[in-house]
Amino acid sequence: MENENLLAVAREFESPVYVYDSSKIISQYNRLSDAFKKVKRIKLNYAVKALSNLAILKLINSLGAGLDTVSIQEVKLGLLAGVKPNDIVFTPNGVSLEEIEKVSAMGVQINIDNLSILEQFGTKHPNVPVCIRMNPHVMAGGNSKISVGHIDSKFGISIHQIPHILRIVENTGMHINGVHMHTGSDILDIEVFLRACEILFETAMHFKNLDFIDFGSGFKVPYKLGDIETDIEEFGQKMTNRFNAFCKEYGKELTLGFEPGKFLVSEAGYFLAKVNVVKQTTSTVFAGIDSGLNHLIRPMFYGSHHEIINISNPEGRERFYSIVGYICETDTFATNRRISEITEGDIIAFKNAGAYCFSMASNYNSRYRPAEVLWHNGEAHLIRKREDFEDLTKNQVDVDILTKASESVS
Ligand SMILES: *Cc1c(COP(=O)(O)O)cnc(C)c1O
Repeated sequence: MENENLLAVAREFESPVYVYDSSKIISQYNRLSDAFKKVKRIKLNYAVKALSNLAILKLINSLGAGLDTVSIQEVKLGLLAGVKPNDIVFTPNGVSLEEIEKVSAMGVQINIDNLSILEQFGTKHPNVPVCIRMNPHVMAGGNSKISVGHIDSKFGISIHQIPHILRIVENTGMHINGVHMHTGSDILDIEVFLRACEILFETAMHFKNLDFIDFGSGFKVPYKLGDIETDIEEFGQKMTNRFNAFCKEYGKELTLGFEPGKFLVSEAGYFLAKVNVVKQTTSTVFAGIDSGLNHLIRPMFYGSHHEIINISNPEGRERFYSIVGYICETDTFATNRRISEITEGDIIAFKNAGAYCFSMASNYNSRYRPAEVLWHNGEAHLIRKREDFEDLTKNQVDVDILTKASESVS
């Protein structure tokens, strides 16, 4: 998005505010589906947890994508956005049998990632087709919080437990219609990913009546200039050849599935905040903004890098700044970053603010969660209002414990 458009959004909707550029989401979707156009049956399910605004779900569904969900609430959001139940996959971890049954009753494809629930579900509902999430034990992912496929990971059923799965399937008579893996975010090396895919292909051969194989996600996007990103085109070509060969071997045209979150929405997002204070200490120049880890926690939580630009003064002389929040603990967005000269009142923009930014926002320090705006066809559309004081208090129950206590004493 152009600086002037971002500034116009900040002027109209005030700061802090999230802005999403629909054209970037659309071009990323097209890039991914083009990379797999030689696969007969391909299904991209957008991972709702990256950014779950209804307008975003509608937009992505209109492109042809389904949804990948991890909670019954995400399923409900998808249905509210008009997504068909059979276009939704439920891939939870550690949720109750009851929640899985409720989601399954809505007509959503379920994906089970542990033997205990698999056995219980299969015993009670042998006629409901189920996908199983495997753990291929491949170390991938940008950091330990998002690397979910390694040996000690809580996710998926170990490939070493395939005999156990087969026993459950035989005993219950249940139908496994898909196999799945999700090794984690930020995969840098296509070969590592393809190795994990081989393990999933081997697993798939154990199940005779599959409809799809879902390879999860992990497509890396660049967060800064010169950053490595997953080469989607090269990956698409290699994967297409391998998948088509596998279908021949398997004897059936299966659907190839992916669940991109970050890839579709990360770069489409900008987070705009205003500089409240410029504070010069003996060693550092801090720019304190009207936001903090309550609105964008990735830098503090994962050590993530977000490019920061001063959109009020893009051509200014560059100086070094540490960008910090207003939360009463250390919430540093960036340390000694070269940014064009900042004056109090300037609007700064964080890039790559589409994925895992608003969706991880909280009310910490009793601050309101920001507004969200969709930039579509050259116009700004408010897609979520900024919270107000009522949002902070509406679920609080005003118990008059002091009066009651004194009554019971008297
Ligand atoms: C989070 C998640 C994704 C999306 O991961 P990205 O790195 O955002 O693409 C896909 N599948 C599952 C099961 C997930 O939990």
